[in-house]
Amino acid sequence: MRFEVNHLESYDDEALIDELRRVAALLGKPKLTLKEFSENAKVHGSTLQKRFGGWRGALRAAGLSDRADQSNVRKTKSETLSAMKQIAEKLGKESITLREFEAHSGMTGGPVCRIFGSWGAALSAAGLQQSALGKRYSDEECYENMLSVWTHYGRPPQHDEMNEPPSLVGSMAYVRRWGTWRKALEAFVERVNSREEEINPDSRPQEAGKQQPKEQSKDKRGPRDIPLSLRYFVLKRDEFRCVVCGESPGITRGVVLRVDHTHPWSKGGATVAENLRTTCQACNLGKGVSPA
Ligand SMILES: [Zn+2]
Repeated sequence: MRFEVNHLESYDDEALIDELRRVAALLGKPKLTLKEFSENAKVHGSTLQKRFGGWRGALRAAGLSDRADQSNVRKTKSETLSAMKQIAEKLGKESITLREFEAHSGMTGGPVCRIFGSWGAALSAAGLQQSALGKRYSDEECYENMLSVWTHYGRPPQHDEMNEPPSLVGSMAYVRRWGTWRKALEAFVERVNSREEEINPDSRPQEAGKQQPKEQSKDKRGPRDIPLSLRYFVLKRDEFRCVVCGESPGITRGVVLRVDHTHPWSKGGATVAENLRTTCQACNLGKGVSPA
């Protein structure tokens, strides 16, 4: 009779997922391991493992991905990253290939790519170049990326933060270019405080493919694109927060701040600090006019 209680009425996917959710709610713990589940469920966890391609897959199917124990993944991640950095140093290279990684680390590349999403993402997390032939970032691209990370944290970013989203340029690129991370920060601060481009908008370095018609920069409104130093000035003035709702990426995950024209540029608003403000995406979209 006891065994009857320990059976499910059905073993289809839905029933298994229901059982998983029931046990998760019953235990109410932040993590749910295969062992804990099996001890409390009417079906052994291995059945779910087989059905859903692993324990993690079962949790995902039940919408319980956050209950997966990430400690193994974290360990593999940190081991992989330190191995990658060591190999790059040993080979004296700014980037390493998956083949080099496998040859020198004795680890296999497949799981590594799976954990990070791709080899490129693993390189980025290790602060290495995406490829040996690699993209060489211009100073302006480095500064732009620095500003986006600075805005994200509302303060000067730390070295390691350059190797995580939202950064697109790894810390190594900065250190290679400016010598040390501190010097890279100093170069950025000097750049954004120069504000030379406001006096003479034409001095703004042109980005490839984004060249503007001459008459536009002679416009009394100033350029439509807000120069880097002016964007930094406005963000800092507004304390890296949305001036409408007060949100910031530091408070709420996923908030993205941007600097836009209060009186739209398309309607004659000038690109000057007094007509610029920091808003989050939600408030910016809510203002009912196309972003200037
Ligand atoms: Zn807002």
